[in-house]
Amino acid sequence: MVTIDEIEAKMYVDGDWICAKTGEKRDIINPFNQKVIGQVEEAGLEDVQIAVEAARQAFDKGKWPHLPAAERGRKLFCLAQLLQEERERFAQIETLNTGKTLMESLADMEDIANVFRYFAGLADKSGGEAIASPIEHSSSMVVREPVGVCAQITPWNYPLLQAAWKIAPALAAGCTVILKPSELTPLTSLELAKLAERAGIPRGVFNVLTGPGHSVGAALSESDDIDLVSFTGGGATGRKIMKAAAGNFKKIALELGGKNPNIVFADADFDTAVDYALNAVFFHAGQVCSAGARLLLENEIHDRFVEELKRRIPKIRLGDGFDDTVQMGPLISREHLDKVEHYVNIAEKEGASLVLGGKRPESPELKDGFFFEPTLFIDCQETMRVVQEETFGPILTVERFVDEEDAVRKANNTIYGLAGAVWTTDADRAQRVSHALRMGTVWINDFHPYFAQAPWGGYKQSGIGRELGHSGLDEYTELKHVFQNHAPKPMNWFGV
Ligand code: NAD
Repeated sequence: MVTIDEIEAKMYVDGDWICAKTGEKRDIINPFNQKVIGQVEEAGLEDVQIAVEAARQAFDKGKWPHLPAAERGRKLFCLAQLLQEERERFAQIETLNTGKTLMESLADMEDIANVFRYFAGLADKSGGEAIASPIEHSSSMVVREPVGVCAQITPWNYPLLQAAWKIAPALAAGCTVILKPSELTPLTSLELAKLAERAGIPRGVFNVLTGPGHSVGAALSESDDIDLVSFTGGGATGRKIMKAAAGNFKKIALELGGKNPNIVFADADFDTAVDYALNAVFFHAGQVCSAGARLLLENEIHDRFVEELKRRIPKIRLGDGFDDTVQMGPLISREHLDKVEHYVNIAEKEGASLVLGGKRPESPELKDGFFFEPTLFIDCQETMRVVQEETFGPILTVERFVDEEDAVRKANNTIYGLAGAVWTTDADRAQRVSHALRMGTVWINDFHPYFAQAPWGGYKQSGIGRELGHSGLDEYTELKHVFQNHAPKPMNWFGV
């Protein structure tokens, strides 16, 4: 088991492990028992300047952007290999810091290593294009170049996974990076810097600053020396970042929230749909941007489906993520627990019927953690706040629908457009519904799968841009058109 002393606490800037100029530190808490598991540096504006300068120098004067892409790829393969070797240790730190089960953290580590491997392989396959020039005696080509210095701001629910989705393509493309992890969960991001150092990523190319979003995150988003800011987090923060980025029109990539419909038709495989409906919403205690928190059931199966949910939900085992019989950990913080609990009051006032949960568990073993019982609401209407807003907790709302048109209309009636699922054995209907849903990902007879090869991102207020897949690498490149005249002669247009 990893010990607190082994966990890196300083920040990684320009290849050095440094303390914050503020002289301040922040305690990092285990949400399972509120014990302090580490202390990290609390960066301020001076630290932002130092890190931006380092990343700027590494981009403008360093070798990294100009290395053969295959060589950058080799370093990323090496980093993936180190992550694979250290997966147990990283997973333990992630479970200590987020409360999620160790099994989930280990699965995250597989995905993280895969993301690095995928972009390592893609690094030298992102060629340009030769254009058939319409001008005689000329050639025209389009090349991709790294965008520059990137600020990457990440949330607490998948600390290293969300960071990996950003760091791997940025480094593959030849950019330099300043990562600012969530102030609640910075530990694995700092540990990653150790591995980046071992993998031979040059000084200044990858930097990690720990500190508050409202100062460090905001300063990075505003900085004129940053060329791109990539953010994963809530919409309110996303809006601030978009405004801050307008100063120098830096590029932005935003991965925001979701309120994702899970639509089950009466002809679906009933038992599988029930099973996946539970997984869709209660995985990581609902703290998943693509959680299937909105269950839409066709009238004919509504009552039977709800009965089955009522039978299974109380069996979900809450507890310590290190206990391998536990299925659901705590929420990340007291503040978040309060927010989730508040949605229960809102839902009840609006007329939803609370069937299960809706409160903090009473069991003495859970009293020190930020636990919330898996919660089921029925009689929900699409206009209710608990249906429309992201609770980001273990709350499942059930709505009814009468037919396909009704299901699609209800599912699309949201400001979000991150993901959704449809369950049916009618192949034509599956296709029709998947086309009709205004979402970045649609699952048919499944929920949650994502992988490095396919793009991830949101329609509507769920974001701007795409991570993963080829488009995930394209986010970190600029397109340049290079035109050459092979027979230049005077034009004699002016002053002849
Ligand atoms: P958050 O917006 O509160 O914070 C995210 C990050 O932004 C943190 O690092 C924080 O320090 C920083 N930040 C805060 N204020 C800032 C500011 N003014 N300027 C710059 N940075 C600032 O989000 P959270 O609570 O950490 O994460 C939960 C949210 O993330 C949910 O809405 C969830 O849906 C979303 N999310 C989306 C995806 C996706 O792929 N679309 C994935 C995971 C999480």
